[in-house]
Amino acid sequence: MHIVQVASEIAPVAKVGGLADVMMGLGRALQRSHSVDIVVPKYDCLETQDLAFTSHKEQVGAFFEGEICQNSFLKAKFGEDLLLTLVQSQHPRGFFDRGSIYGCVDDIDRFLYFCRSVLEWMSKKETPPDIIHIHDWQAASLAFLVRQPPFERYFEKSRTVLTIHNMAYQGICQQHDVEKVMPGLKDEVLEALHTGFGRDCSLLKAGILYADFVTTVSPTYAKEVLTHEGGRGLEHCLARRKESFCGVLNGIDTAYWDPETDSFLAARYSAAHISNKKKNRQAVCQQLGIAYDETKPLVISICRLVQQKGVDLIKYVVMSAHKKQMQYIVLGTAPDPVVHEEFMRMSHHFEGDPDVRLVLQQQETLAHLLYGASDLFFMPSLFEPCGLTQLIALRYGSIPVARRTGGLVDTVFDVDFSEKPFEETNGFLFDDPDTHGVDSALDRALALWRSQPERWRQLMQQAMSQDWSWNSQANAYATLYEQMMNHETAQV
Ligand code: ADP
Repeated sequence: MHIVQVASEIAPVAKVGGLADVMMGLGRALQRSHSVDIVVPKYDCLETQDLAFTSHKEQVGAFFEGEICQNSFLKAKFGEDLLLTLVQSQHPRGFFDRGSIYGCVDDIDRFLYFCRSVLEWMSKKETPPDIIHIHDWQAASLAFLVRQPPFERYFEKSRTVLTIHNMAYQGICQQHDVEKVMPGLKDEVLEALHTGFGRDCSLLKAGILYADFVTTVSPTYAKEVLTHEGGRGLEHCLARRKESFCGVLNGIDTAYWDPETDSFLAARYSAAHISNKKKNRQAVCQQLGIAYDETKPLVISICRLVQQKGVDLIKYVVMSAHKKQMQYIVLGTAPDPVVHEEFMRMSHHFEGDPDVRLVLQQQETLAHLLYGASDLFFMPSLFEPCGLTQLIALRYGSIPVARRTGGLVDTVFDVDFSEKPFEETNGFLFDDPDTHGVDSALDRALALWRSQPERWRQLMQQAMSQDWSWNSQANAYATLYEQMMNHETAQV
């Protein structure tokens, strides 16, 4: 099977959130047994020091606003076994040379141009791919672009799979934006694109309607997005596709996230030698200038500081850390300037504090060390399509305290309130996204940590031994691809 994976992020070289981790983990797992191209833009901010570029270079033009602009398709290796295809744009607007992955006023143009370029590149090959797996709105337009002239004949046998990593981001734009990459769109495409609200179009909506199969990243989120609240306007559109829609739980790359081999840790450890976690805690305390205090548990949160992640509840725990006699470290970045300012103020307020630190940066190395050092991982998401941080935390023996929503329901099993025996539990959940909810789970966790160190140790060990790798999940995708190849294309 020849599979092309298309997305806007890839870990660790172009990472904003979990999408990047999925692209690396799923890509690497599939590359072991299939021919897989993983195509991402070659941003100027790409962290190239760990990439080994090959001499391979293809020059392919792409149509944009009535002109053909050249692009270079480069191949680069990350580590032993991850091969990437990077699209370097020579468009005068420097679409991928903005110093950041997202956040530009013309993001719609940038990613439509990316999709058109990938389409042209695929269409120049001797044979079309069997599967084009596209991720999120940034790649969603490929689902309908491949079904338009002059491409439809060439891609007749290719099947498209769209994975939605977050319904909150839909690629809202205008018809003329899409026409920059494909003028003269047929009425049925325009209908699929229009949201029904004013003149707005949604790239994700058209992607959902045109993809041959649609997945999202956990079984519980797959149910939530069919409701008014979870669907964010696209619930009816997804309901139309219910025969070709399901949730496939994300995994994590257990070779990259491995406390036994992780070179970012101060001390590596396994479930059998879990006491080595202490050395990581010492290293974190030294690095961030907080007290090393074994009488208090170390709680962490690592996330994008956006409403989805429950920023108000993170603030609440920052402010109650002393009262709860815990240490708390937050690592996150806030794209919204108002939230950023607020967290900056808090960060200054806690400068020099022995127990609380806020690090408002993107720091992959520190993230690894924090997972390795911590006892608890606090994750009060208002909604959570899958969530990878709780899976990484589990692998490093950091016990999640999380809101009962989306993928957290599928991966965190409450010590006190689950049908599973203690041996199969791994965390603490709360229902209501408010301070009472947080207290109801966090206080139970802190009490267990304090009063029953042996049981806590057992909980950490069983969390570490659970398998959240991509192995079975990549197989689920491979099976889906095989089924797709025997199906007709989606009828819109
Ligand atoms: P989302 O995709 O919604 O951002 P996920 O839980 O799926 O959330 O994945 C987040 C990923 O980004 C994890 O790998 C996490 O460790 C990482 N991450 C988030 N914020 C930071 C940060 N400030 N520094 C380093 N890594 C971060």
